[in-house]
Amino acid sequence: MTELLYQTDSYLQSFEANVVALDDEGRGIALDRTAFYPGGGGQPADSGSLAANGVRYAIKRAKKVGELVFHYLESNEPLPAAGTGVQGQIDWQRRYQLMRTHTAMHVLCGVIFRDYGASVTGGDMDPLEGRMDFEFETMQRELVDKIQEAVNREVAAAREVRVAILPRQQAFQIPDLIRTKINLLPEGIQQVRVVEIVGLDLQADGGTHVHNTAEVGSIRVVDYKSKGKINKRIYVAVE
Ligand SMILES: [Zn+2]
Repeated sequence: MTELLYQTDSYLQSFEANVVALDDEGRGIALDRTAFYPGGGGQPADSGSLAANGVRYAIKRAKKVGELVFHYLESNEPLPAAGTGVQGQIDWQRRYQLMRTHTAMHVLCGVIFRDYGASVTGGDMDPLEGRMDFEFETMQRELVDKIQEAVNREVAAAREVRVAILPRQQAFQIPDLIRTKINLLPEGIQQVRVVEIVGLDLQADGGTHVHNTAEVGSIRVVDYKSKGKINKRIYVAVE
């Protein structure tokens, strides 16, 4: 199994690890520990590099396969053998943009639930841009402007962002988590990672976030669209 270093330290840019398995056909390397985010919850996987035996391998993406995180090579050089020690380096500029974007999306969720009682139905993001779907009947420019103002007020409030890994039973007792459909978590999962924007939002979440909303920058609502009678999509840019 791969130890997920980014779950407890999202600011970790480089790390040491050992090769534990290979995917020869897919050109993938599984490690015993990694700082690479393997994708999920709307946040794309990291890219970066692994160095082993004096060779630096460019990694185009990481992906979780069962309990292991595989790191996929861009090139065709021979893979390092199982047991080899490697130094990993993530593409930090891209990752930090994704952290700012991911936290921005949670600020948006928190504001929309607090001010309008609307739940999120889906979302997706790329570095410095994202979209989220909410259970809203109507959406107009005036409302969008209000949301943008409220969201930037929360960013400017420099709210602390905390991450905790809780036993399942304890997480199930937090009322804020119930609304984000924590009860849909598979029964086998005994620990729940929660991300809290103190005073604004609390969600079960596996992604990487900044430590404080002040790091997000400013959030601009660039577009909105109806995706059905009670589903409205909001597009944001982080600047
Ligand atoms: Zn999230």
